[in-house]
Amino acid sequence: MAVELQLSWEDPATSTVEQRLVTVPVAFGRDEQAMRTAINDSEGTLVVLPHKQVSRCHALIVGKEGELELVDKSTNGTFLNGQHFLGTNRQIQDGDRFQIGPYKIALSTIGTLPPSPSMRLPADSTAVLPGVYHDSLTGLPNRNMFMSLLQNLWERLTVETSLLFAVVHLDIDRLQQVNDSLGYRVGDKLLAAIARRLRQRLAPGDTAVRLEGDEFALLLESVANTEDALALVEAIQRDLAAAFTLEDKEAFITVSMGVAFSHVPVNQPEDWLRFARAATNRAKHLGRGRLEIFRPGMEDSGNRLRLETDLSRAIERGELSLRYQPIVSLTSGRIVGFEALVRWHHPETGWIPSDQLISIAEETGLIIPIGLWVLRTACQQLCQWQMRFPHAHPLTVSVNVSSKQFIQADLVAQITEVLQKTGLPGNHLKLELTESLLMESEEAAILMLSQLRELGVQILMDDFGTGYSNLARMRTLPTDVVKVDKSLIQSLDGQNLAFVRGIVALAHSLSKTVVVEGIETQEQLVQLREMGCAYGQGYFFSPPVDVAEAEKLLAHPPKWS
Ligand code: C2E
Ligand code: CA
Ligand code: CA
Repeated sequence: MAVELQLSWEDPATSTVEQRLVTVPVAFGRDEQAMRTAINDSEGTLVVLPHKQVSRCHALIVGKEGELELVDKSTNGTFLNGQHFLGTNRQIQDGDRFQIGPYKIALSTIGTLPPSPSMRLPADSTAVLPGVYHDSLTGLPNRNMFMSLLQNLWERLTVETSLLFAVVHLDIDRLQQVNDSLGYRVGDKLLAAIARRLRQRLAPGDTAVRLEGDEFALLLESVANTEDALALVEAIQRDLAAAFTLEDKEAFITVSMGVAFSHVPVNQPEDWLRFARAATNRAKHLGRGRLEIFRPGMEDSGNRLRLETDLSRAIERGELSLRYQPIVSLTSGRIVGFEALVRWHHPETGWIPSDQLISIAEETGLIIPIGLWVLRTACQQLCQWQMRFPHAHPLTVSVNVSSKQFIQADLVAQITEVLQKTGLPGNHLKLELTESLLMESEEAAILMLSQLRELGVQILMDDFGTGYSNLARMRTLPTDVVKVDKSLIQSLDGQNLAFVRGIVALAHSLSKTVVVEGIETQEQLVQLREMGCAYGQGYFFSPPVDVAEAEKLLAHPPKWS
């Protein structure tokens, strides 16, 4: 079996590209010796293209003496169709293209294999070199190559589900300054020097590419676990922080880096790079020279950065509002209070999902002014309602408090002031704190509870039954009310039913009140009522509603049975 190949390679000394047409025998198999025998008429050099896994086939190309003498036996840096051959594992097929080692030899095959002895190659078959897969300035592979590598890994992941690799995106923070102060020629040399340092640090099997301009990417396949990968990335960061001497001048750079691991779910192979870049953007935003690991939600960080800026003006621009969700007594079927839930209507984007709003607010610290605004608005509103609807049951309002707010030293003072200014009696206000927060800072919670008790304000343990729920801890938590999370109610069958029953029984034995959120059906209501839950909230009664809708409910109070 033979195939006619067109070889082309770049002479690293002169940067000229040479081409030669050769006919070489080809064999496939796992066993090098068996394949040598199969090509027994060949007196040429044997080139083995090895790979990491031993499944499917090796590919062997045997070249005649002299023709392939440039081939590096180590074959490190062999690419098949732009994919790192060390990591691939497949038979040579119609139209495959190889590129081997630092010599940038390209081999192209066309036609169907097993090939006829003399297949002609198309005239442009050498277009694969240079440029298509390589960046000429740094000598590194380029974006095309990187994309093919990712594509290949994506395919492998479907079979090797535990495959671990890291995609790292690097952005040189101030390349433009180097260009401006030392000139573009020095800037180019700096890029080439960066590429050398990257290459030096990486293990065989890892790849560094230049994406464009001052952006590089790494594909770390040699790492055994995420810690190794991060250690390697940090080492690279240190390598690049050392001075570069360029034309007798010293230049220092910092890089912002983002890492995305293979285990983040992606829809397409490009996503890993997109995610790593999103993490880099985050790193840049947080002050450059940093390393960030991609977390879902970071991907539209451009959009997010804009939202962060816009949120800072949202209060003064009147873009925030509250929705009120009725809390119903399961015994009387009457509304006993409301939970206040914040909403943001962005002038361009429209309604922002509240989880996103809260996470931006928490990350930026804006949760402090926003939380205070929510507290004040909710208390004012309840006071108004109490005056307008004097026949309504004495109402309470529940306000969510995030951990960032909770650690403020003057939170109790703020609450005291809001109660004074709005005139709302403290026993009409409930604060909803998450279970994890209460568990983490139990001492602070106990202290705060005792201070709030004097004001009559109740603390409620929100989202109970999510995260690290530990029933035994309920005993020690300093709250009088437990709110069972909607996730438990949503599938109220078998195990969940028993768990909720357990929570309710324990709460009652500790004289705590139970509120259940997320009641959507009559059936759930019946079950929860049978367990003796005192209060409920959920779409079955009403979704969170605006002030006008809430007032309709107060004017004509429904009675749910
Ligand atoms: P949460 O405290 O668990 O609030 C209950 C969430 O469940 C609300 O989502 C509510 O709309 C939703 N919900 C109510 N009934 C049902 C139901 O029957 N079925 C289902 N599937 N969902 C129901 P929302 O308003 O999107 O708020 C999400 C989270 O955002 C809240 O969860 C809370 O953690 C946070 N949040 C909302 N407003 C504020 C606020 O003013 N301050 C703080 N710190 N966090 C807030
Ligand atoms: Ca809540
Ligand atoms: Ca909840």
